[in-house]
Amino acid sequence: MRLTTVPQISEPLSGETAASIADAILGATRSGGDWSSLAAGSQPFACGTVSVPLSLLLSLLQPLGSTLETLLWLHTAYGYLRYGMSLSTEEAVVARLTYGAANGAFSNPREPAWTAQRKMSARTCAICERDAWRQRGRRGVLCDHQLPFVTACSRHGVTLRIRAAGGAPPALRSVAMAKANDVAFSKSSAHIWRWGRDPSVLRQWFANALAEQGYRRGDGTFAVRELGAALAVFVQECVSDARLRRLMEYPLRARQLTGWISGRQSAVHAAYLAVLNMYLRSRSGGPYEEYA
Ligand SMILES: [Zn+2]
Repeated sequence: MRLTTVPQISEPLSGETAASIADAILGATRSGGDWSSLAAGSQPFACGTVSVPLSLLLSLLQPLGSTLETLLWLHTAYGYLRYGMSLSTEEAVVARLTYGAANGAFSNPREPAWTAQRKMSARTCAICERDAWRQRGRRGVLCDHQLPFVTACSRHGVTLRIRAAGGAPPALRSVAMAKANDVAFSKSSAHIWRWGRDPSVLRQWFANALAEQGYRRGDGTFAVRELGAALAVFVQECVSDARLRRLMEYPLRARQLTGWISGRQSAVHAAYLAVLNMYLRSRSGGPYEEYA
């Protein structure tokens, strides 16, 4: 192999998973997304975005300017998953992500099945992969493509596919455009993920948007029944994933969402926030980028 064909990690891609960065440094093919940085017998964590403890990854990246904070928020799905966690679970998960399970303080939180990475099948966009290859000379896997129920690239509007094995440059054949609703859901999910660092801002945005659209009254109470009915119709028309549609059919979902927005309820799973976000923006026409 000629030296110029050996990928070298200079710096992470924007939004690249920590697992992908670790693969590029420690893995067999020196290209992100093949899970070859995982220790034998261990499983990826946080929607498959983490394969080795972030403290270890940081020691390998220095002195490139990353910190544990930037790795956690920009390169893992933690910012998405944390909405559904109690404070004590958040602390345990951050410890697990940062230092691994070896410190003995971690017990696996109860997570819904759809937040777990059951198979080692990273989702990827062919165009994003090609761009990563051009920029960095290696493939990379991005966090927002790994979020639950996401099937489209929010940047390119194409359908995601399972990453092909190996470290070779990706082929660009058979790129399929995704449905507009699936792209909107991807944008909404990525938006929720980015705001995971400061959910209070998202709460306030939701409160304002619900007021503008008639679901929050002047006295601060919510028109829960009306919101639930509108969401039920929206979900049937616009959410592709049958599991997510069923989860949204839960009769108290609108009450749960407004409870979280008002601060009465501390945790709510981010996928439901992503659906509500998508619904409100479909009505207002507001761009996600405005709040990114
Ligand atoms: Zn893409």
